[in-house]
Amino acid sequence: MSDKPLLQVKDLKTHFFTASGVAKAVDGVTFSLDSGQTLGIVGESGSGKSVTSNSIMRLLPKNGRIVGGEILFEDKDIAKLKISDMLDIRGKDISMIFQDPMTALDPVFTIGSQIMEVINAHQKLSKKEARDYAIKVLGMVGIPDPEKRLKSYPHEFSGGMRQRVIIAMAIACHPKLIIADEPTTALDVTVQAQVLNLLKDLQKETGTAIILVTHNLGVVWRMCDSVMVMYAGKTVEYTDVRTLYSNPRHPYTWGLLKSMPKITDDPNVPLASIPGTPPDLKLTGGSCNFHNRCKYCQKICMQESPQMKEVEPGHFVACHFSKEELEKIGGSIDE
Ligand code: SF4
Repeated sequence: MSDKPLLQVKDLKTHFFTASGVAKAVDGVTFSLDSGQTLGIVGESGSGKSVTSNSIMRLLPKNGRIVGGEILFEDKDIAKLKISDMLDIRGKDISMIFQDPMTALDPVFTIGSQIMEVINAHQKLSKKEARDYAIKVLGMVGIPDPEKRLKSYPHEFSGGMRQRVIIAMAIACHPKLIIADEPTTALDVTVQAQVLNLLKDLQKETGTAIILVTHNLGVVWRMCDSVMVMYAGKTVEYTDVRTLYSNPRHPYTWGLLKSMPKITDDPNVPLASIPGTPPDLKLTGGSCNFHNRCKYCQKICMQESPQMKEVEPGHFVACHFSKEELEKIGGSIDE
């Protein structure tokens, strides 16, 4: 068995070519993931989280292209594979759980036929074997009376049950990696907890690796081993989850943590937020992308893009300044 990580993404760059210029949606992202581990990718909308995961799946719109870097999956660079070769990998080795189960399922086909289609695409099973297996995976994700529910249509399921069906489809071919893009955003809070527990339990059983794309730091704490914070197409901080919460080093991470609601918050005090808006991705480069929102911003921040530095073992931060230097500049750290 290889001792290399299951997935290594190295300096990935994915750009979108539009009439008004090139948007650098992912601009030099590096991370790795072992089997059985969960990586959380967090950041605001437009930070590049979903484009990073769609790049791994090679599910980019026509004007989007991987223009640099490597995506080594079991040592094979899938960034350079032909799309026809990716069809063998998608669903079988890497599968995806999308945010909205209603749009991910086809409303005119039964749940059973949609699961069996996934099974048949990658496994040579007879019709009866595929049907029995579809019943089994539906049972695994907690759908009651799975044999009967095979004949149901998506609209006959609740939102939480539909997301369970999506998870059943994602695990049907025993993938080595599951990418879950905001898998609980469309669900109410109690169902969110059930779906997250289900994913965790399935991971324990199967040893699959998970990339969890989310804007919810509470979900990251609960689910992930490591976390990558993205801002305007770049990684700004990358480390294990405990370190991120106990010793965050990037001003943007401080802002994200501060804006998380806490049970002890005074209900009369408005929630903290990060002032300003992310930059236009067509205009980034040559400076720190966060400079227009950062209270510690100095001249160099507007002139040079900070490189990722390892500030302690396994903890990478992209800021021109150390925590101590930021304290001298800004007085106090707003964690
Ligand atoms: Fe703020 Fe400068 Fe650090 Fe960017 S490089 S996060 S602008 S202090």
